[in-house]
Amino acid sequence: MAIIYTPGHNLITDSLIMHGIVRLYGDSVREIERIGEKYKIELIEDPKNKEALEILAEEAEIYADKSISKAFLGSSTILGKINISNINESPKVFPKWVSDIKNSIENFEPVTHLYTSEHKSKFKEERSRSSKLYTLHLPLSLIYGKYSQSDYKVIKDSYYRVCYNCFLFSNLGIIYGTSIVRTDKRTSEGTNSVVNILTLIPVEKVRGADVLLLQRFVEGKGIKLDVELTVLASLLYVLSIGETIYHVSFDVECLVWQLRRSERKIKKEINQKGKTEKANQRGLETISIKINDLLEIIARIKYEFDDFPKFIGLLARDEDGAYLLHQLAETLVFRHDVYPVIRNISTYLLDRYSKEEKIKCDDSQYCRYAKKVHILAEILSDILSKYRLPLSGIKENREFQKFTT
Ligand SMILES: [Zn+2]
Repeated sequence: MAIIYTPGHNLITDSLIMHGIVRLYGDSVREIERIGEKYKIELIEDPKNKEALEILAEEAEIYADKSISKAFLGSSTILGKINISNINESPKVFPKWVSDIKNSIENFEPVTHLYTSEHKSKFKEERSRSSKLYTLHLPLSLIYGKYSQSDYKVIKDSYYRVCYNCFLFSNLGIIYGTSIVRTDKRTSEGTNSVVNILTLIPVEKVRGADVLLLQRFVEGKGIKLDVELTVLASLLYVLSIGETIYHVSFDVECLVWQLRRSERKIKKEINQKGKTEKANQRGLETISIKINDLLEIIARIKYEFDDFPKFIGLLARDEDGAYLLHQLAETLVFRHDVYPVIRNISTYLLDRYSKEEKIKCDDSQYCRYAKKVHILAEILSDILSKYRLPLSGIKENREFQKFTT
């Protein structure tokens, strides 16, 4: 039996590393305890779920062949998940990411040898140009891009780099420990992308099996939507369409972080002739929120209104619906009165149906749900009346704003 500590990069990266370790070590993990932004993990040396590494190695081998099409990648729940998290469209980035995964698997060492309390300083993991270390891409860290902010100035800096094991486990964490909701929009200026990444983390001391249960809520393919969702709307969307579990016996937080990429064409200042593309990528927003009650509320809604996941999917089709999804998420999280948002949803559904007049009412989902929405209102009102206090522990951090291009 050994006790290890995650390295202390930041809560996002350490949570991904913790999820990666639990996925690989499975039943060998006895206990996990969050200490600030790190995790203390008690485990025995032998990884129980080596196929997680084998599958990743197989895919890395396949996708190292650059002729493999992006459509093929989109069907993968392993490297496809990493691809959907990546907002850096530079053609060099994803192939390098895949080859770094291959190298990190070849260098893999049991964590009991590596993750001592001095790990980070021993490997000199920091903003660095060292070719022995691996770039911690924006989705794996949120804050360690090429540019950083200091005294309100944006300064160019080296990427944050980590050892092969931190790189490997944070990637396993993205694959198995997160849900990703992505929207790409073409504009006359270029493509704008928004990526919301969610992970569930324990607040107190738990068993390895407890964290594996949390992974079942979120793992699977990344989700691509035509419409942008706020972090709260993403939370409701993912928890509603995912597996339904009524009761988690320990305190759980959902950590959500958002990445944005915007592309714009700017005139070259020197000759004013050509236009050049400039992409701006940034980690924008994080929230952490205790979600035990929300999980239970959603499970009860789904039990009494089994079309709820389809209903949520219907709202996530256009901007007005996405706004109502955010309002509904706020209502459930902060226990507001349900009737104002239900009235807005009802108007929206009828309005959408009237724009589809050629479709018979029986065939239109908008019409069917408009007829049923008062049933949902009663169910929501009844359920929320049993949860008097708002969900506690929402922490927002907008100071994470860092830049990279
Ligand atoms: Zn490391």
